Amino acid sequence: MSRIQLLPEILASQVAAGEVVERPASVVKELVENSLDAGARKIETIIRRGGISLVRVVDDGCGMDRDDALLCLERHATSKIRTSGDLAAIHTLGFRGEALPSIASVSRFRLTTRETDAVAGTEILVAGGRIETVRDGGEAPGTQIEVRSLFYNLPARRKFLRSENTESRNVEHQLHLQAIGHPHVAFVFIRDDRVAFHLPATSALRDRIRDLHGSELVEQLLEVKPGPRAAKIEISGLIGKAGVSRSTRTQQLVFVNGRAIESPVLTAALREGYHTALMKGQFPVTFLFVQLDPAAVDVNVHPAKREVRFRDPASVREAIVAAIHETLEQDRGAWQEQFRAPVPPAEPPPVSNHLPEITRAPQQTDLPHPGFDEFQLRAPVFESPVAPPAVIPSRANGEGSLPRSEDHTRNVGSSVVPESQQFQIIGVLNRLYVLMENANGLVLVDQHAAHERVLFEELRRRMEEKGVPSQRLLLPQTFDLPPRDAEWVERNIATLQKMGIGIEPFGAQTFKIDSLPTFLEIADPAAFMREVIDGLRSASNSTSALRLGEDMIAKTVCRHAVKANDPLRYLEVEKLITDLLECELPYCCPHGRPTMIQISHTELEKKFGRKA
Ligand code: ADP
Ligand code: MG
Repeated sequence: MSRIQLLPEILASQVAAGEVVERPASVVKELVENSLDAGARKIETIIRRGGISLVRVVDDGCGMDRDDALLCLERHATSKIRTSGDLAAIHTLGFRGEALPSIASVSRFRLTTRETDAVAGTEILVAGGRIETVRDGGEAPGTQIEVRSLFYNLPARRKFLRSENTESRNVEHQLHLQAIGHPHVAFVFIRDDRVAFHLPATSALRDRIRDLHGSELVEQLLEVKPGPRAAKIEISGLIGKAGVSRSTRTQQLVFVNGRAIESPVLTAALREGYHTALMKGQFPVTFLFVQLDPAAVDVNVHPAKREVRFRDPASVREAIVAAIHETLEQDRGAWQEQFRAPVPPAEPPPVSNHLPEITRAPQQTDLPHPGFDEFQLRAPVFESPVAPPAVIPSRANGEGSLPRSEDHTRNVGSSVVPESQQFQIIGVLNRLYVLMENANGLVLVDQHAAHERVLFEELRRRMEEKGVPSQRLLLPQTFDLPPRDAEWVERNIATLQKMGIGIEPFGAQTFKIDSLPTFLEIADPAAFMREVIDGLRSASNSTSALRLGEDMIAKTVCRHAVKANDPLRYLEVEKLITDLLECELPYCCPHGRPTMIQISHTELEKKFGRKA
C-alpha cells in the first residue's frame, strides 16, 4: 500500500500559510502589496485588536471581474507572471500567487471587488479556505479584503501571536515601510477605530517622512547625491547626517526596486558607508532606494519576499558605499557655510584675563615633540608631562589682543587659516569644551573628539600616500601566533607595513617586529600586535586594506589624541578648530561621536524668552 498522498487543497494552503502568514503584519503586507500592484492611489488599512480580530485593506485599484475574483483564491493563481522568463525579471511586488488562498485558509475572509467601469461588483465569503458565498456586491470601484479571526482554525499558530499591542506595532511598522516605499500613494491607518495616520499622496519622499516622523528628523537627513553608478545601479533617498544614529535598526530602511529588504549585503554596505561616522553599536538612519535591473536581483528566495539575492553583490555594495560617502561629504559644505559668514564684531577682552585656562605657564620649555614634529601634524599632540609641540611665533597684531578670525588670512604654525573660516573663540569650558561664536550662534567643540578626527584624517592621508612613518625598535621582538592569526597577518602584511608596523614572517607561525608607528608609545610590541590583530580581525574580516588601516588608526588615535582636561593654549585651540573645519567629516570623531554642537541664535532667543 502506498504511503504517499496528495494533500487536500485547503491543507496545502494552510501549509503555505505557515510561511507567508506569520502574523497580522504579514497579512497587511500581502494585502497592501496587492493593492499597490493593482495601481491603487489610496490604501486604507483598518485593524482591530492588533489585527487578530480584524484586518481590512481597502484600495481604489483596478479591481477584478467575477472570474478573476474567484480565481485569485486558487493556489498558484496570479496575473503577474506567465513564463519562467517573467520570473527572472519581476516588476511587481507579488508573483507567487499564494497570498490570498493562504490567508483565506486560516481566517474568515471576505473579498469585495469591482472594476472601474463595471456596473456591479463581486462579494465572496470564505471560511477556513472554503468558499461559502459568492454574490453581487455594490462597493466603490477597487478591492476590499477583510480578514477576521486570524488562525481561528489553527489554535497552535494562534498561540504564537504576541500581545495585541505588539502585533499592532508590527502592523504599523509594516505600513511605515510601505508608505515610505510608495510616497505617491495615500495611506490611511485606523487602529481600533482611531486614525493612527493619514498620509496624503506626495511626489516627495521628504514630505512623506515628515508626515510620518516629524520635521525634526527630516532636518537631520541628507538627500543622497544621485550620480552615475556602476552596473546601472541607481541609489537615491534620504540618509541621516554623520553622527545621526539609533540604537535599533527600525529606521535603517533599504528598498530594492520598491521592496523593503533585509540583507546582510545591504547592512554591511551601510555600515561601511557610515564608517567613522557612527558610534559603535549604533545604526544609521536611512531611507535608501536601490533601483536596479530586475534581472540582476532574485526576489524568489524568501516566501515573504523580505530577502533577495543579488547577482553581483559586490557592485551593489560598492554603489551604496560610494553614494553614502559622497552624500556625507557633501554635507561638509553646509557645515563650513556656517563658519563663512562674518561674526559680529565685539570688544576684545582685556589682556590680563583672557583665556586663562588655555594659556600655558611661560616658564615651560616649548620643545617640539619629536614624533609629531616629524609628522608635521597640524594639531598639537602631547601627553603630559611631555612638553607641547612647537609654539607659533608672536604675531604682528601683538601679544595682547585676541586676534579675530575674520581679520585676514594669517599664518598659524605650518598651516594657514583659510580666510573663509569665520569664528571667534570665547574660551574653554571645564578644560574640555571649546566655546566659540560663529555667524549662526554658539558652537561647542569637544576638543578631544575634534582632535581625534583631525589626527585620524591626517594619518589616513599619510597611509594612503607614502605610508605611516615608523620608528625602529631598539630590540626587535619575535612572537608566535595561533594558526588563524598567523594566516591573517600574512594576508594583511602589506597593509600592516603601510601602517608603520614593521612585521615579517620569522618561521612557521613566528613573526618578527622591528618597528612601530612613530606616534605610538608601546612598551610591549608583541602584546600590542596581539591586541591589534584581535581588534582588526573581527572588525575587518572581508574589507579592504584601506578599511583595515582606518580601523587601526581609529583604535589607536583615540589613546593619543588630546585628553579631555589637557590645557591647550589659545593658538593650539584655534589651530585645532581650523584643522577640524578642513576635515572631510568634521562633525564627528572616528567613532561617530559628535565633535561640535551648534546652538543657534534662534535657539538662544527662544530659551531666553525673546522669541515665541
Ligand atoms: P500574487 O500577488 O503573488 O499574484 P495573490 O494571491 O496575492 O498573488 O493575488 C492573486 C491575484 O489576485 C493577483 O495576481 C491579482 O491579479 C489579484 N489581486 C489580488 N489582490 C488584488 C487587489 N487588491 N486588486 C486587484 N487585484 C488583486
Ligand atoms: Mg500578492
